[in-house]
Amino acid sequence: MFKLNFDDTITAISTPLGQGGIGIVRLSGKDALPIANKIFVSKDKKKPSKFKSYTVHYGWIKDDYMKSSSKKKQSSVIDEVILTVMRSPKTYTREDVVEINCHSGMVPLRRILEAVVKNGARLAEPGEFTRRAFINGRIDLIQAEAVLDIIQSKTEASFKLGINQLKGDLSDRIEHMRNETLEMLTHVEADINFPDEEDVSSLPKARLIGQLKKVKSQLNDILCFSQEGKILREGISVVICGKPNVGKSSLLNAIIRKEKAIVTAVAGTTRDSVEDEVSLSGIPVRLIDTAGIEVPENIVEEAALLKSRQNINEADVVIMLFDASMPISKKDKNLISEIKDKNIIYAVNKIDLPEKINIDKLKKICGVKKIIRISALKKQGLNLLEKAVVKSIMSSTAINSEQIIISNVRHITLLKSIKEHIDCAISSLDKALPIEFVAEELKVSLDFFDRLIGNSAREDLLDKIFSEFCIGK
Ligand code: GDP
Repeated sequence: MFKLNFDDTITAISTPLGQGGIGIVRLSGKDALPIANKIFVSKDKKKPSKFKSYTVHYGWIKDDYMKSSSKKKQSSVIDEVILTVMRSPKTYTREDVVEINCHSGMVPLRRILEAVVKNGARLAEPGEFTRRAFINGRIDLIQAEAVLDIIQSKTEASFKLGINQLKGDLSDRIEHMRNETLEMLTHVEADINFPDEEDVSSLPKARLIGQLKKVKSQLNDILCFSQEGKILREGISVVICGKPNVGKSSLLNAIIRKEKAIVTAVAGTTRDSVEDEVSLSGIPVRLIDTAGIEVPENIVEEAALLKSRQNINEADVVIMLFDASMPISKKDKNLISEIKDKNIIYAVNKIDLPEKINIDKLKKICGVKKIIRISALKKQGLNLLEKAVVKSIMSSTAINSEQIIISNVRHITLLKSIKEHIDCAISSLDKALPIEFVAEELKVSLDFFDRLIGNSAREDLLDKIFSEFCIGK
């Protein structure tokens, strides 16, 4: 990526493109107000540079052009707008920000954007507004990443993680641990540089170990729900499998609450895997109904079978479904033995019909203590099934806890590395190795803390993080 200049004024359409009530063109930078002066005509003829911060104004955006016949400057009105002025430093980017609310639609938005660019602004790169907020010190890197998480969150739970992160809960905890590590390093360095001086504040070994263990336990607290955090952020895939006609498509439809998969009494209706997204206890779930084909009869069925197997292999959870109104068949047994080493939830469907399946025998064959009983048709037991899916992948403490949950792979990796170095520092002290070893481990930990917050983030890393944003954010 080319080197960005952060002294100029940037602009972008900040709302999704398409027809809608309102569209916003945003400007940020030192020329935001002078540019607005040139293109905005307010009802009372006042210039935007005279407006107070955080005030909104009604008016028109105009475009100046030269009339070729008279060689005179002419103006034409582009759109009726509301203009908001936000003055530095109390703005999203900490720079002067102007937002132009116009009618949403490709033409007014594009024409206003063109007028802004014609008068001196540069089109913003993806995420550049947030990057400026980071560079100008309003938010740290963790908070900037939270903005992205909030925009991309698919469920209430992942949205809540993003909001907590943006509020600074995680940043505060990390800052606190960083400061404790820095303090320890200062004492250790003092010991190294002035070993004989009485007044230098060196820490007794036992106290140093105690402090290191405290930081380690804080790291453990944050890391302990990282798996759950990743699940909340990225979601899981749940595959429904079972022999033909057990009610797989009916179950998918019942969980997603719409008629997506075709349901008939004819065995093998689902020829391809059908899938949809749904939220189960706040977890984004990709629910997949597999084709109930055992012996493929043509290349279409062969491809469908292959895809079913692939989906099962890649699934986080497999729901294996049986028909309660029929005795256990050889086909059921084949399936049970075929799918092993997966996170499987066993369920019998059609419990609204007279029960012919031997549940105790089924439990033995599956090697489980619990089989969930449902009726996809009558919507019975679905709650229990959903709970079992969530429980199989996530600890209930994580879902209900108010504790900080991290979800970003970058954060998880760096925090794990810090923990390893803190561990090494502790064992160096235990083994009575020279104190220089401890200093080294603390320095590396400190460097990782700084990378986490963004104090020493490399340009290419910043480019990568911010390029994931949409333009205009
Ligand atoms: P699939 O081949 O496994 O996907 O099964 P379908 O969802 O297509 O269902 C096969 C047949 O079983 C259809 O006639 C459904 O209406 C019926 N069925 C599905 N679930 C239930 C249920 O819970 N109770 C009853 N009585 N019938 C069901």
